[in-house]
Amino acid sequence: MTCRSILKRLGLKLPLLREFIREHEQLRAAHAQALVELQTVSAELDQLQATLLRLSEGSAHPGYCHCCHQRTFFLLEGEWLRDQYLCAHCRSIPRQRHLHYVLDTHFPGWEKQIIHESSPTIDFIARWCERYSSSQYFEGVASGEAVNGVRCENLERLSFADDSIDIFITQDVLEHVFHPELAAREICRALKPGGAHVFTVPRQPWLPASEARARLSATGIEYLKDADYHGNPVGDGRALVTWDYGADFERLIERWSGMTTTVYADVNRALGIDGELREVFVSRKPQ
Ligand SMILES: [Zn+2]
Repeated sequence: MTCRSILKRLGLKLPLLREFIREHEQLRAAHAQALVELQTVSAELDQLQATLLRLSEGSAHPGYCHCCHQRTFFLLEGEWLRDQYLCAHCRSIPRQRHLHYVLDTHFPGWEKQIIHESSPTIDFIARWCERYSSSQYFEGVASGEAVNGVRCENLERLSFADDSIDIFITQDVLEHVFHPELAAREICRALKPGGAHVFTVPRQPWLPASEARARLSATGIEYLKDADYHGNPVGDGRALVTWDYGADFERLIERWSGMTTTVYADVNRALGIDGELREVFVSRKPQ
């Protein structure tokens, strides 16, 4: 029996059958699309349910995040708030949100200024700033040169011209340089008059005086205390801690940089700002 005779017996015509097949394929595609959307909605519902559970348990609360500039939930993932108090949207931590809060509050219009950030581990500043540049430190590479497209800058010997930057940002970087006195002076040199170094650093208030943990000698690194490392976005992923900063840090940084330093130590849970070593320092270059 031919196809044509089967169609005739069924009272169908070829164009009608083609129409049926086309509709069937459209329905199948729509079904596949609906399945994908269902999976997305299901994942969002799971996340919402998890957040609601955390809200009821008190391990999450609503607020506004200055890193991602939106309403969010802040998640308390442990007792060490410095690293375990996260924005549900952007996963920022308190010191990062605090730094953005200081920028938004004390530097209106900062997004349009010339900003350089040394050794960023996250892109929160880059997302909002039009004239942003960043650099990493690569051992043995001169400041201003590039490694795989990434600019190298040694904080102790910057390649920037004098008076060329509005805001210089370092986030937990100064505890990794051997000569912070040179770094502070160099940052001041590169800043425009009236410009500012906005930074975080783990200043330990229980330590009366800052102490070097390691120093460079003619034979290499000399360890004055046990070797301690933090994460590093380049190299072998480790950054040696060279200094433990203590209660005298503001006096030291002012002496080293020649700038006046203000310390912000806000606590504001509605903005996700709380926890250990969250201070933000602002050193202003005189006009
Ligand atoms: Zn956020």
